[in-house]
Amino acid sequence: MDLVHVCMPPPDAERPWRLESYEGRGGYRVWRKVLAGELDAGQILETVKASGLRGRGGAGFPTGLKWSFMPGDCEQPTYLVCNSDESEPGTCHDRDILRYNPHVLIEGMALAAYAMGATVSYNYIRGEFLGEPVPRFLDALDEARAAGLIGRGLGAAGIDFELHPFVGAGAYICGEETGLLESLEGKPGKPRFKPPFPAQSGLYGRPTTVNNTQTLACVPAIVEKGAEWFKSLGPPNSAGTMIYSVSGHVERPGNYEAPLGVSFNELLEHAGGVWKGRKLKAVIPGGSSVPVLPAAIIRECTMDYDSLSEAGSALGTGAMIVMDDRTCMVSVLRRIARFYYAESCGQCTPCREGTGWLYRMLTRMLEGRAKVSDLDLLLSVANNIEGHTICALGDAAAWPVQSFLKHFRGEFEEKIRSSRPLARRKEAAYA
Ligand code: SF4
Repeated sequence: MDLVHVCMPPPDAERPWRLESYEGRGGYRVWRKVLAGELDAGQILETVKASGLRGRGGAGFPTGLKWSFMPGDCEQPTYLVCNSDESEPGTCHDRDILRYNPHVLIEGMALAAYAMGATVSYNYIRGEFLGEPVPRFLDALDEARAAGLIGRGLGAAGIDFELHPFVGAGAYICGEETGLLESLEGKPGKPRFKPPFPAQSGLYGRPTTVNNTQTLACVPAIVEKGAEWFKSLGPPNSAGTMIYSVSGHVERPGNYEAPLGVSFNELLEHAGGVWKGRKLKAVIPGGSSVPVLPAAIIRECTMDYDSLSEAGSALGTGAMIVMDDRTCMVSVLRRIARFYYAESCGQCTPCREGTGWLYRMLTRMLEGRAKVSDLDLLLSVANNIEGHTICALGDAAAWPVQSFLKHFRGEFEEKIRSSRPLARRKEAAYA
């Protein structure tokens, strides 16, 4: 399997974040066609629809279909919002698009906004990206504006396209699209009830589409090379490429852009294999929210929507967290539970209270203060969170618990049994 570069620049590109470099690689060709009046909005929308592009932010919803929900004949403003609030644990590819290929995102946003009839767009960037990603994106905006690619009355076609950056304050929940819109409006980032969906009532109550960074970065190549080319890169139902963020116990962690449908084993090889010559124990294949898979199952998978769904997990954000055979699954699950507990916005009782219960019960198990029967209670709490909350954070907190217990219950039982005498000895020592 060869690595490909649709969203990321080729490795030999010099200062690939500069406009000169991007244009040298054919960048802005499509947008310049639009500005010259040679490409209309309908053609772009139809091409993206036909390409089979699915949102790369986790849910995998078809992008062209999402765009088609926007009213085409709206007299009031409509908006495109890019979600660069990348916070899913294990995921680190959007920040690299901002760092190394910001112009591909700007061009993708311009094309998407134009296709949907939106003249104003925002890029909501995670607050922690103030190091390289934010300055590079801001510089790229200045370059694009100076080159007449952003602004009002652009080109012979006189197109309006404004793009405003917005830096968030670092809350995971602002990655949820309605929480993000609340935050963009200056309010606490608390997800909204749906319906209405953002395409009906989004930013400032106006029709809005929210797309992920990597999704929008795919658009220029799709429009330029065609829907068939994009589809041919992956298996049916999983068109194109994905930037896989490989982390955990591998020799070479990092971002690898490869066609969807690449086998897990090949991807692991690119990352240098399991570190220190150890054996693979388990993998979380799509960011911490998706169910874990043991080695025997993930070894048979290809990294695409259908294969991982059939295996009982999901592609999610394509962030692969690799665990070796010395990993304590109870500790890993507690760490994940701690994250969701800390990031719950607190609006719904099952999530606000349940995430804390999960964390405290797992802590008891690690500290030798639990019984084996508590595992049923743990599962029951997770089951009562799932599907009973306003946004998907509740499910994201429940699925790891369900899947860890499904595949590694024996290890949890063993941990509880072996920790209890230790805890009793500690108690006796302090008595
Ligand atoms: Fe907030 Fe959790 Fe409810 Fe989402 S599920 S709205 S994060 S309390």
